[in-house]
Amino acid sequence: MSDRPPASVLPPAVDVVVIGGGIVGVSTAYYLAKSGVRVALCEKGGIACEQSSRNWGFIRKQGRHPSEIPLMILALELWHELVADLETDIGFRVGGTLYLSETEQRYHANLAWLEHAGTFGLDSTFLSVSELKALVPGMQNQVRGALFTPSDASAEPAFATLAIAEKARAGGALLLSRCAVRGIDLEGGKVSGVVTEHGRIRCQTAVCAGGAWSGYFCRHLGLVFPHLKVISSVMATVPTDILVGGQNIWSSGLGMRRRRDGGYTVAYGGSSRCEITPDLFRFFRTYLPAYRHSKEVVTLKLGTRFFRELVWPAKWSFDKPTPFEKERVLDPDPDLAILDKAHGLLGRTFPDLQGIDIAQRWAGMIDVTPDELPVISTVRQIPGLVISTGYSGHGFGIGPGAGKVTADLAVGKTPDTDLSAFALERLL
Ligand SMILES: Cc1cc2nc3c(=O)[nH]c(=O)nc-3n(C[C@H](O)[C@H](O)[C@H](O)COP(=O)(O)OP(=O)(O)OC[C@H]3O[C@@H](n4cnc5c(N)ncnc54)[C@H](O)[C@@H]3O)c2cc1C
Repeated sequence: MSDRPPASVLPPAVDVVVIGGGIVGVSTAYYLAKSGVRVALCEKGGIACEQSSRNWGFIRKQGRHPSEIPLMILALELWHELVADLETDIGFRVGGTLYLSETEQRYHANLAWLEHAGTFGLDSTFLSVSELKALVPGMQNQVRGALFTPSDASAEPAFATLAIAEKARAGGALLLSRCAVRGIDLEGGKVSGVVTEHGRIRCQTAVCAGGAWSGYFCRHLGLVFPHLKVISSVMATVPTDILVGGQNIWSSGLGMRRRRDGGYTVAYGGSSRCEITPDLFRFFRTYLPAYRHSKEVVTLKLGTRFFRELVWPAKWSFDKPTPFEKERVLDPDPDLAILDKAHGLLGRTFPDLQGIDIAQRWAGMIDVTPDELPVISTVRQIPGLVISTGYSGHGFGIGPGAGKVTADLAVGKTPDTDLSAFALERLL
């Protein structure tokens, strides 16, 4: 992949420019190239440098909002197709997802979700305590059974997006790293190109797949939609021969998955930190219902991010460096206290893993919309612009499906999957 492309590497014109090299942008570029479209992808840092390499690696239908389930069914089919076609082992494995019912509230929520599974013909089921014990014998947790979807899968985030990127490149997509897009050129109100830090690329369609940056990026076009960031911390244990379960396991306290290297990716359930930023004040009322709903798992914190974003300009000129190149990679510090809590809980839940060494700790900045559904949408006011963002902490699994339908929108095709719940208009 090109590192810091000189202006001469930029193509003068393509059909579609994709902004952002996470799983959504890369999958979009892959499906566009596959159908013969001339596509360039611009990434301000490196491919998969933000959320797409930092996540837990769950590829799950289970627990999703019903309007996401058809797209997730498509995504899982595409993962199977991709894996058969990729050169690299991305650790893809079908082990199922388990949601433990350790409280009365979660027991009822898990049972209630089965109704959606039924609507879409999923293989989800509710396991009794004895069925759960038979499936995961080493677990010492006082639970009232668990929701289980055996066909759910997982993959290694650090390898998956890169492998799809390589496939996109082999199919003819031009992938440009360290190539921030400063803005979009309009002619007669329509997209006519993008301006990168290395020069212009003319195109008829631009796809904004900028993850946590998308909301801010779109503001130079006069598009303001609610889009916030929350920080989530994760760790990886050292590899071990102790196999306590091959499933994606989630409870309000613990999230874990067996890794390709034999270790476990572990996090503290749904716990996240929301750094107070100027956008939090701007969108406070819009997010209030979501915050009330999840205030037990989201902590608000004032840190340096507030002051960094306070000086971001509302409008910017395309001939000077922008925040997109000043901060190549969002790399928040992990919350060590919450990870210590997860480490303790891991040992209590799986005594065989008690005290296991931790090899790595990291965090990622998750982009969230107020209804926790993505935006996958054309933009009525700006012909030629497609937005695919706001995957709200569950965009890795759905990534290939998101890329496929985003590629359809980019060439003016109506996707087979219903995207009406993901329209930008709902947030404007
Ligand atoms: C800790 C954690 C755990 C998670 N666990 C799961 C999970 O188990 N399962 C799941 O399905 N999802 C999970 N997620 C969510 C998932 O990782 C994201 O939803 C998904 O990766 C989003 O992909 P994306 O391509 O939209 O964004 P990103 O991966 O963030 O990529 C966006 C890219 O755009 C680039 N960019 C932005 N602006 C510009 C610009 N102007 N010019 C050029 N480039 C630009 C950025 O540098 C970035 O690389 C988790 C996320 C985190 C952080």
